[in-house]
Amino acid sequence: KLHNTILELKGNIRVFCRVRPLLPEDSTGTDMVVSFPTSTEALGRGIELVQSGQKYNFTFDKVFNHEASQQDVFIEISQLVQSALDGYKVCIFAYGQTGSGKTYTMMGRPDAPDLKGLIPRSLEQIFQTSQSLKDQGWTYTMHASILEIYNETIRDLLSSNTRTENSAPSKQFSGEEVEVCSADEISSLLQQAAQSRSVGRTLMNEQSSRSHFVFTLRISGKNEKTEQQVQGVLNLIDLAGSERLSRSGATGDRLKETQAINKSLSALSDVIFALAKKEEHVPFRNSKLTHLLKPCLGGDSKTLMFVNISPDQSSIGESLCSLRFAARVN
Ligand code: ADP
Ligand code: MG
Repeated sequence: KLHNTILELKGNIRVFCRVRPLLPEDSTGTDMVVSFPTSTEALGRGIELVQSGQKYNFTFDKVFNHEASQQDVFIEISQLVQSALDGYKVCIFAYGQTGSGKTYTMMGRPDAPDLKGLIPRSLEQIFQTSQSLKDQGWTYTMHASILEIYNETIRDLLSSNTRTENSAPSKQFSGEEVEVCSADEISSLLQQAAQSRSVGRTLMNEQSSRSHFVFTLRISGKNEKTEQQVQGVLNLIDLAGSERLSRSGATGDRLKETQAINKSLSALSDVIFALAKKEEHVPFRNSKLTHLLKPCLGGDSKTLMFVNISPDQSSIGESLCSLRFAARVN
């Protein structure tokens, strides 16, 4: 009974946890400090962390251990991605400290097909399915935009003149939208965005881990046989690193950056929490990120948060923070 209530309360919000493998650069100690309980109720859903002899257990909708492949992860989200073609608004976030595997999960490594992340896999699937729906009378048009939010300023990564947000604060910001007809076209847009990002970086001396990366695909479908129309949106978001002030040892610009990140991540958590609790007031306006995504959060939209975890001893404090953050919205 209680379990049902919780599921209902959660509505369309899900939280998945992914633990990356230990890397050679994780120098301190050779053992992972996280483990995966195998009891029936926690199998595939539980994660345990031990800090100073104290055990901390968390349960999520799904937990991917260090052995999960990109394909293993994609299988679990492919239906959610598919629902954007049915007219749903979908947001998939990657949350976690810098180095925990957010970009690996979302983008993956472009050099090896097996290591492609959720963004390329999702786009390939979307285009494939949209083609196969032609027989049933569906035609789709798709528009992509790619934005970056750094220090509470939105930057359009597809606009050649590095346009930033329009001045009117009340207006819903949307970046330049480029019509796309294939997953390959989107790949080159992603490359263009990556380039534009690194140009901005040398100018502003920032790192990608200090900004949110927001990929949006707007999908309009029309069925010539049934005259049905659908408007779906797929948002794939690689969030800025969640590490706390103490660890980044921030002063000056760094401090300002970290404060902006903390503010927007806690605004995101507040929004998802309010939506999960079906609260009347949802504080969308507290950050650029939540304001930007407002049309795609709440209602019958679907949200999935990945919490990415580093398994090494020196990350344990941050890992615990990330798991607590995720448990709050779960
Ligand atoms: P973040 O974007 O959170 O800062 P990255 O995605 O850049 O972290 O990951 C940090 C490092 O760990 C990279 O070298 C990446 O290739 C590696 N990595 C992350 N997740 C995995 C994984 N599941 N399997 C193998 N390597 C991973
Ligand atoms: Mg990254």
